[in-house]
Amino acid sequence: MSNRRFITNETGIPVKFYEDSESVGERGPLLIQDYFLFEKMAHFNRERIPERVVHAKGSGAYGTLTITHDITKYTKAKIFGEVGKQTKAFLRFSTVGGELGSADAERDPRGFAIKFYTEEGIWDLVGNNTPVFFIKDPKKFSDFIHTQKRDPRTNCKSPTMMWDFWSWNPESLHQVMILMSDRGIPKSHRFMNGYGSHTFSFINDKEELVFVKFHFKTAQGIENLTAEEAAQVKSQDMDHAQRDLVEAIDRGDFPKWNMKIQIMTEKEAEEFQWNPFDLTKVWPHGDFPLIDVGVLELNEIPDNFFAHVEQAAFSPSNVIPGIGFSPDKMLQGRIFSYPDAHRYRLGVNHNSLPVNKCPFAVNNYHKDGLMRFDDNRGSSPNYYPNSFDNSEPYDGIDLNNCPHQPKDKRIGTFDRNHNDDDHYSQPGKLFEIMPEDAKQRTIKNISDSMKGITGIKKEEIINRQLCHFFRANVTLGMGIARELGVSIDMDKMKM
Ligand code: NDP
Repeated sequence: MSNRRFITNETGIPVKFYEDSESVGERGPLLIQDYFLFEKMAHFNRERIPERVVHAKGSGAYGTLTITHDITKYTKAKIFGEVGKQTKAFLRFSTVGGELGSADAERDPRGFAIKFYTEEGIWDLVGNNTPVFFIKDPKKFSDFIHTQKRDPRTNCKSPTMMWDFWSWNPESLHQVMILMSDRGIPKSHRFMNGYGSHTFSFINDKEELVFVKFHFKTAQGIENLTAEEAAQVKSQDMDHAQRDLVEAIDRGDFPKWNMKIQIMTEKEAEEFQWNPFDLTKVWPHGDFPLIDVGVLELNEIPDNFFAHVEQAAFSPSNVIPGIGFSPDKMLQGRIFSYPDAHRYRLGVNHNSLPVNKCPFAVNNYHKDGLMRFDDNRGSSPNYYPNSFDNSEPYDGIDLNNCPHQPKDKRIGTFDRNHNDDDHYSQPGKLFEIMPEDAKQRTIKNISDSMKGITGIKKEEIINRQLCHFFRANVTLGMGIARELGVSIDMDKMKM
């Protein structure tokens, strides 16, 4: 009997009546002195924390990054320090627009957020399963996300809102094309690529700078669901991708991704045809070939979903020595918005939660705050400089700033980049590289979605968006117009 354990309340006091509330006699009202009843109800009322405004529905697993190739000529980050080096990682997959209980099999980009527990601190690479995004300026983000969520009156998803926004913002075309292509609905999280998406910088031990993009190619191979297959999956299992991840890892079938990078020098960045910091553009592989780095393997499902996956707090602001930011406007915006979201959802001490905590030394003078559940740095000084500890600031380059100094240093400019209006070449190129049957499915996915546009602005929105597709590729534009029953007089079209 020695291993018997009593149920206790939150303060460890044994609870005798776990299921029966204390009352005045057998049929009388309840007594306030049954404190455990109220503790239980009050805790239940507070179980939910705010869901993430975007990327609410997610799945996560722990794993390991193993370095297979030497890239130390580009970066001094110790995570890449030697071939064979292993670093613990946590990866959270997600959809973007759906709520916490929404279906996994939606046509939606997927979040691909990785936390690396490096000896130099936490490095978060908070990417997607697409190399680009719908917008390139963070000022547009909340407007964009509103169109992916629910109509303020009907509280339903609205193709009219989505296509209205996309048609007014043609920089979205590249991401819209990927979303509507075969890759718009991955078969599950294991069968898609991940991309850091933003341009970051690498600094080597000679303090030389290059720009870098990160790619994670699925070793399981790309597999997708058609719109019809996804509808079928959704009707049977809202959580199929979560289930698939748990089942694969539990049976020892550990999913892997091959980590690769693209490198661009500052000179190449100046000469690049597009703005290399524009999140709606890729760096063509032909010009900037993929370089092998390592293998990321997922091998452990956390034993508590809420503690690890729901409380995981990723932030693009978490970069380590050897990795820096870039002038990518979306990256700069996210450097603020992610930690801000976590302070709201989880509180100011969210980095002390086990999934977010750096397992190596954290050393600063932040103290106190709501839910300070560790030892609050004990009796160590709470100010700097002081005469008692020997802590001092890092003597490497200033990592909180983008180490790249743009040539044009004017501040306070709202100007756009000179060729920012080329929203069409890369989406057109993507359409060109698709096999014929994939082209036809993409056309159908787009037109099926656009058929959902309703209301008095229907014609205007369709026409505005059709022009964008025509500019990317005439065959694409014609195919969609045909499906929508819009007649196009090619002679009158001014391309
Ligand atoms: P490449 O032919 O060298 O590369 C094409 C890339 O597109 C490959 O990475 C391939 O991934 C990926 N791809 C294929 N079909 C789709 C799809 N339906 N949705 C998203 N990605 C897809 O050409 P470029 O590098 O010149 O790029 C051409 C176009 O490919 C770009 O405009 C962009 O739309 C897309 N792309 C480019 C990437 C890049 O970093 N250069 C990355 C991803 C997409 P895989 O090899 O895994 O099959």
